[in-house]
Amino acid sequence: MLTKYVLQEMPLLVSLFFILGVFIIYEILFDGIKSVLSIRKIEIESNILKAQLGIMYLFILLFGLQTLVVNQETTWIFINFQIIALIFCAVFLDAPVNYPVFIPIVLIFMIFNSAIFYWESWCFALTLFAFYFSLKYIKKKRANSFPFIYYILDGLLFGVILWTLARIKFSLDVTTIFRQVSYLIVFEIFVYSYIGFFVRDIRVKHTLYEFAHLDALTHVKNFAAFDNDIHALFNQYQSNKIDVAMIMFDIDHFKSINDHYGHLIGDKVLQQVADITQTVLAANDNNIRFYRTGGEEFNIILPSYKLTEIDSITQEVFSAINNSQFCINNQTVDVSVSVGSSEIRDSDLTSDEFYSRVDEALYQSKRNGRMRITKS
Ligand code: GH3
Ligand code: MG
Ligand code: MG
Repeated sequence: MLTKYVLQEMPLLVSLFFILGVFIIYEILFDGIKSVLSIRKIEIESNILKAQLGIMYLFILLFGLQTLVVNQETTWIFINFQIIALIFCAVFLDAPVNYPVFIPIVLIFMIFNSAIFYWESWCFALTLFAFYFSLKYIKKKRANSFPFIYYILDGLLFGVILWTLARIKFSLDVTTIFRQVSYLIVFEIFVYSYIGFFVRDIRVKHTLYEFAHLDALTHVKNFAAFDNDIHALFNQYQSNKIDVAMIMFDIDHFKSINDHYGHLIGDKVLQQVADITQTVLAANDNNIRFYRTGGEEFNIILPSYKLTEIDSITQEVFSAINNSQFCINNQTVDVSVSVGSSEIRDSDLTSDEFYSRVDEALYQSKRNGRMRITKS
């Protein structure tokens, strides 16, 4: 029954719903697998999962569909879906050009489709490769926008070439070709609108996330980001024993700086302290994370570091701040910091216990006269 239905050309509207369904099922699968992996604490980068899952999904789908029509007169019936699948791969999944994956898939598909001995099929496969490259080229050249019109024109050009090859191989009449190319344009407008909407949605979410996790004054990560990260790293320590060290520092007598020079200069001191620290950390290791966790309080998290391995970084940050000239609006401000540090231990039951130990070390520095480092 299904085969009989598929042997005829699918009406435009049915095809559109079919493509929409393919997208939605993919997103549900992606979200589901991501949730399962995060529950099992398996770390995999979203982009890699997105591309690998997408390629597998399309592979199964295209082969599944083709089994319905293989060795029939209408083996050409899913050509538009194959073109859309390629667009999905190149533009939406942003899958890299990966010859060891793509060439075998195309060859297996041609053998499966009894097309390996036809020159038209080889031309068809090469045109698909060229189409894929052109899509990646547009994506790379226009990385900061979504060049809708370029994609449509590119798709139209390659669509016409591909359908012309199909016309030669299957002796299709001009009306069928004309109808299929028109359908392809409608599919493309639909798919690119959908992808464009998705890309904008991701960008908005990313901006909101950045706003929610960045400190507006110093532009370093804020307490929300710190809280997130420390929980995640503590869990990682418990499951995989990946060490984590922390350095916390607080500006000494900052209230007097505000009282003496005013809040605006106080703000500039905070910005300069953040800039100095970031410069020192960036020169050491890009995996070290830096946060402003309170008014004049900052935290540095060092993943994969033991307490014994952070002495030189701690000293560098400490000296850089204490020895810097804070010359703001022609006024020289004396700035010093007190520092506390520690590492996660097996005896810590929660991340709070680790955090409290670092905090306590910092206050020990304050009690001992400020402008010093205490390790705990
Ligand atoms: P201690 O050496 O013990 O740390 O003394 P302190 O004066 O630095 O500490 P205290 O907690 O008494 O004062 C911190 C001050 O930081 C009080 C608050 O007004 C100021 N502060 C907090 N956030 C900001 C900010 O964003 N900008 C400015 N200019 N001041 C801030
Ligand atoms: Mg202070
Ligand atoms: Mg403080």
